[in-house]
Amino acid sequence: LKRRDLPYHREMWKILKNVYNIRSLRTNQLEAINAAMTQHDCFILMPTGGGKSLCFQLTALMGAGASFVISPLRSLIQDQVQRLQSMKLPAVHLLGDAGSASTRHLNSVYQDLSLRNPTIKLVYVTPEKLSASEKLDSVMKSLYNRGLLDRIVIDEAHCVSQWGHDFRPDYKKLSVLRSKFPRVPFMALTATATPRVQKDILHQLKMTKPKWFTQTFNRPNLRFIVKPKKKVMEEILQYIKTKQPVSSGIVYCLSRNDCERVADSLNEAGIKAIAYHAGLSDDQRTQCQEAWINNRYKVVCATIAFGMGIDKASVRYVIHHSMPKSLEGYYQECGRAGRDGQLAECILFYLYGDTNRIKRMIQNNSDRTADSKQVDMDNLFRVVQYCENVSECRRVQLLHYFGEMSFEPSQCRAQPESMCDTCATSATFENKEITSDAKAFVENVNSIVHGGNRNWRKPVKNFTLNHFIDIFKGSGGSRVTSEGHDRCSLYGLGKSYHRNDAERLGHLLILQRVLAEHIMIGNHDNVLSYVKLGPKALDFLQGRVKLPPLPVREKEKTVSK
Ligand code: ADP
Repeated sequence: LKRRDLPYHREMWKILKNVYNIRSLRTNQLEAINAAMTQHDCFILMPTGGGKSLCFQLTALMGAGASFVISPLRSLIQDQVQRLQSMKLPAVHLLGDAGSASTRHLNSVYQDLSLRNPTIKLVYVTPEKLSASEKLDSVMKSLYNRGLLDRIVIDEAHCVSQWGHDFRPDYKKLSVLRSKFPRVPFMALTATATPRVQKDILHQLKMTKPKWFTQTFNRPNLRFIVKPKKKVMEEILQYIKTKQPVSSGIVYCLSRNDCERVADSLNEAGIKAIAYHAGLSDDQRTQCQEAWINNRYKVVCATIAFGMGIDKASVRYVIHHSMPKSLEGYYQECGRAGRDGQLAECILFYLYGDTNRIKRMIQNNSDRTADSKQVDMDNLFRVVQYCENVSECRRVQLLHYFGEMSFEPSQCRAQPESMCDTCATSATFENKEITSDAKAFVENVNSIVHGGNRNWRKPVKNFTLNHFIDIFKGSGGSRVTSEGHDRCSLYGLGKSYHRNDAERLGHLLILQRVLAEHIMIGNHDNVLSYVKLGPKALDFLQGRVKLPPLPVREKEKTVSK
């Protein structure tokens, strides 16, 4: 498809040079632009910072009519439109608040679009607006009938799919666009999609024969590290002070409170930090972003609301103070580090207990149906699996998850500086057969929690997973003895396991749905989590579900000289 001398290329290079000050195109940009200019549907999968926007901006600028860009977030739209307008490019948004100024603005946009030769080339809109405004609908129809609806661009297209980590119901409604405007080419773009989500995007948007543009998601300059979360604040302080005293970074936190607390601790230690979360007004957020981009603050402590559309090249580290909710989200957040190609570190502090907080968020999310909450839970479990897989290359785990099955550990090890933590460790692992221990574990959950009924719907007593791990390890805490659990058949069976491996066994049973946890809110608003049999318990006990062996760290062998 590399047609270099297509009629619009002169114009394209002129715009690139004069307006964008860009002299060469990156991977897939030219190919995607060519496909779009020749009226093909395009599906563009490009990592964050890869230059997706340019693909649709350029095609729009060279078109005869107008392109509509659908984007999920107001702030994202405002940013892009502001940037384009500051470059004197004919882009507008239709965010429209209730005020009269915005009514005037909307009217003037609609007026322009009804001209014989509209001057506006790029119209940014949220999916909500698109499905709610009749006026907009009639303006688009009129453009379409006059052959001036050039293209429909679906940015952050993974939001269409309920299998994705960021599903938005209003995105799903976009499927009507194809039947409304059958002759208009689509361009769907995303930086994150598993193979399942990719297929779903095409299906939802009814893109039957799109040109695909995908590229490797490997970011060779990022170093991925997972650390057990113990004294997390101390470690973060230590890391920034000793390793990154002058560079910029992001610390992702789970809640507003965490953001504030982490930022306070950093400031107390003399590291200039600012908190960024959904509790701030639009103005405050913009100020916060700018302050960080201009290096007035070194660190931003943010919930996931931060970072979409932010383009700061020299971010040297991204720290996850708590585990992320999905691997897609995680990879995207990490992707904000090292955009300049220089080495950057992504450190995730992992504590299984944090899953309780996330489970609670998932349960309380009133925007989600029961089905989509299950997807959220699966995504969360996938993160647990990633964090607890300490024997396999991080890059291999991540890239395979995104469908790049040919990626190999040797490719990670080829870059010693940015080699992931598991590749960098000298530990060797042994695959431990755990089936009989796991069966004993499950049988004992059955007798202790369910009174031996194998009736997984009705726990009769509440115990935490940790309690069972205490029993398994034979580390008789006072509760274990007072309940008489030091006399049960599980007691001490896992004596030879490292605590950490015993925990991983328990978590594996939960990930496989052999066991389950139900959460309760305690007196002090703390989240308690109790273990019970899961939907696969019987299948497991009867041998229909098998557990993979558990890689456990071999004791360091002493090398005799
Ligand atoms: P994405 O949307 O894929 O995250 P953007 O489109 O925002 O990425 O582009 C990231 C940055 O790279 C922007 O500053 C953009 O101007 C710049 N950029 C895009 N394409 C090129 C290119 N061919 N050459 C140089 N810079 C580019």
